[in-house]
Amino acid sequence: MSDYSKCCLTKYPTPVLMESARPVEKINDEIRQLAEQMIDIMIETKGVGVAGPQAGVNLRIFVVSIDGTRESAKVYINPTIKVEGPLVANEEGCLSLPGVYGKIKRYAICTVTATDLDGNEFTEVGEGLLARAFQHEYDHLEGRMIKDRLGAAGKLRAKRRLKQLEAEHKKTHKEIT
Ligand SMILES: [Zn+2]
Repeated sequence: MSDYSKCCLTKYPTPVLMESARPVEKINDEIRQLAEQMIDIMIETKGVGVAGPQAGVNLRIFVVSIDGTRESAKVYINPTIKVEGPLVANEEGCLSLPGVYGKIKRYAICTVTATDLDGNEFTEVGEGLLARAFQHEYDHLEGRMIKDRLGAAGKLRAKRRLKQLEAEHKKTHKEIT
């Protein structure tokens, strides 16, 4: 049994962020604890969403709260998405890539079908910021991050910051081992 109560935010280049996540096989107390912990991380870091890999867990689950409050927080397990509408470019950041920002193109409408913590399947249509959040979090489950979606100029701008994050990660890793 995994203790998910100690999960904390992972940052680039932690390998789990670059991997495709595994489906949640059974919704049990472990998964409920993980969801609770992910919501805590989201509220503490003032994010609008957190995906499993961002909590260091290679599972297909994300939480979203469009206004950043605990009351609005929702859990999406094994989500699938369907996108529609025009692509809209807007400024985006990521908790796991602090200091990296850029215009990212996302579809205007995103429909998510997922399972909730009671094991019930539901479908939700997101528009605007919510559609953007769904696509951003879903990307995390596929091991994709905003750095992969930046345009050529944005990638160039992010390069130095990514190098810094890589160096910081190396330093922390060395201190632990
Ligand atoms: Zn992110």
